[in-house]
Amino acid sequence: IRPQLARPDLWREAAFIGGNWREGAATIAVDNPATGAVIGHVPDLGAADAGEAVAAAHAAFAGWKRKSAKERGAVLLAWAALVKQHADDLALIMTAEQGKPLAEARGEVLYAASFLEWFGHEARRVMGEVIAPHQPDRRLVVTRQPVGVVGAITPWNFPLAMITRKAGPALAVGCPIVIKPSELTPFSALALAVLAQEAGLPDGLLSVVTGQAKPIGEVLTTDPRVAKFTFTGSTAVGKLLAAQCAGTVKRVSLELGGNAPFIVFEDADLDAAVEGALASKFRNTGQTCVCANRFLVHEAVHDAFAQKLAARVAAMRMGPGLEGPVDQGPLIDERAVAKVAAHVADAVARGGKVLAGGAAAPELGSRFHAPTVIADVPADALLNREETFGPLAGLIRFSTEAEAVALANDTRSGLAAYAYTADAGRQWRLTEALEYGMVGINTGLISTEVAPFGGVKESGLGREGSHLGMDDYLDVKLACIAVS
Ligand code: ADP
Repeated sequence: IRPQLARPDLWREAAFIGGNWREGAATIAVDNPATGAVIGHVPDLGAADAGEAVAAAHAAFAGWKRKSAKERGAVLLAWAALVKQHADDLALIMTAEQGKPLAEARGEVLYAASFLEWFGHEARRVMGEVIAPHQPDRRLVVTRQPVGVVGAITPWNFPLAMITRKAGPALAVGCPIVIKPSELTPFSALALAVLAQEAGLPDGLLSVVTGQAKPIGEVLTTDPRVAKFTFTGSTAVGKLLAAQCAGTVKRVSLELGGNAPFIVFEDADLDAAVEGALASKFRNTGQTCVCANRFLVHEAVHDAFAQKLAARVAAMRMGPGLEGPVDQGPLIDERAVAKVAAHVADAVARGGKVLAGGAAAPELGSRFHAPTVIADVPADALLNREETFGPLAGLIRFSTEAEAVALANDTRSGLAAYAYTADAGRQWRLTEALEYGMVGINTGLISTEVAPFGGVKESGLGREGSHLGMDDYLDVKLACIAVS
C-alpha cells in the first residue's frame, strides 16, 4: 500500500517544526486516490503548533538574512540537487498520495527542483538603485530587504512545485517560511523538508505544519510576526484568507482559480492545436489552475478540430498512476468526479454532443472519470462559466475574432489563456486584448521557472517564478540622506 522507497526515511509521519520532527496525539489519514486505501497518517496539529513554528521562524530570521546571498543560494542549490537525486522516491510518494501518473509526478519533481535551482542563482541578483535627488544636498538610495517570516498554504494538485516556488524565493532573499501543505498531500512536503535539512538549511527557516486548515491558517494570516502570506488554492478560500490578512496588513500573494479559454482560429494548425489541447487540458487529470477550461473554436474548423481531438482522447489510457504507463489517473476525490459529471450533464442537456468519454469509470474506482470531449456546447453552459478542474473538454463555436475575445474575457478569472492562429497580427492583438496574466500563443504549455506565473482579476496577486518572483518577498526601503 505504501510505496517502496530507496530511501525509506523520506516517508515521515511527523510534522517538521523549528528543525524537529513532531508527532501528534491525533492524526489525519491520507489515502491513495486511485484505490481509496489509507497510505499513512500525519499529526493533526493546530494553532499552538503553528505558533511555535512562527516563533522558530522569527528567531531564525536575524541570522539567515545576514548571511551572504552566495551562502543562502548554496543551500538552495544543494537542496535542488538532493531533490533531483531522489526524484524516483519523491515521484512514488507523490503518485501514492495525489494520483497523477508516475511519469507526470517525476516531471513535477524536476519542475519543483528547477525553482530551488533558479532562486538559488537569483539570490545573488537582489539589486537596489540610487535616484537623482530632488535637492542638491540630499542622496536617495533605494535598497530591498527581506519582508520577514512568510506563511504559506499550498494545494494538493502540485504537492512539491507549489511549495518550492514559494520557499525558493523566500529563502533566497532571507525570509523563513512556515508551510501548511494540503491535508490530502502532506507526505511530499515532509519529504521535501527531510531534504532541506540534509542540504544544510538551519533550523526554523522551514517548517511544515500538518493538520487543521482553519486554526493553522488563522495563525499564518493573523500573527503579527508573520510579515507575508502566500497562498495557492481555490478563489473562495483565497478571498477569505486575504481578508484575514487585512487586520495586520500583511503582504499577500494569491494564486487562485482560472477559467482558461483555449481559442482555435480558422487559420490554426489543427494538429498542433490538438497537441496543445491535450497537454493543456488533460495534464494532471485536468486539475491545474492553468488547464484549458473551455474551447472556443471557429465555426469553420469546429467539426474538424472536434473529430481530431476526440480521436486522441478516446485513445488515452486511464488507470492507477503507480501501475504501468497511463495517460490519466484518478481525480483527487469523489466531489471532483461529481463536478465533472455535473458539467457533462449540463452540457448535454443544453445540446452538446459527446464525442469521447462522457461518464465516470466506477470499474476502475470511485474517483475515475473518463477523459471527455463534448462538441457544440452553447456559451451559457456551466463549463464555460465555472472551472471544471477535471478531464472535460467542451467546444463552443464562434464566428469572429471580436466574439472570441468577448467570450474569453467574460469571466472574473484571469489566469491563463491560449490561442492558436497563424496570423502574426492576430497573435499580437490577442496577447493585448485577452485579460489574463499569461497568454499562450500556439502552445498549451506556458509554465517554466524562468517566466512569471500569475493572474489578474480574481485569479490572484503577485507573480511566482522568474526574476520577478523575488519581488513578492522583498520590501523596498528608501534612505534619504542629507549631506552637508
Ligand atoms: P483546492 O482543494 O481546490 O486546491 P482549497 O482552497 O480548498 O482548494 O485548498 C487549498 C489549501 O487551502 C489547502 O492546503 C487547504 O487545506 C487550505 N484551506 C482550505 N480551507 C481553508 C481555511 N478555511 N483556512 C485555511 N486554509 C484553508
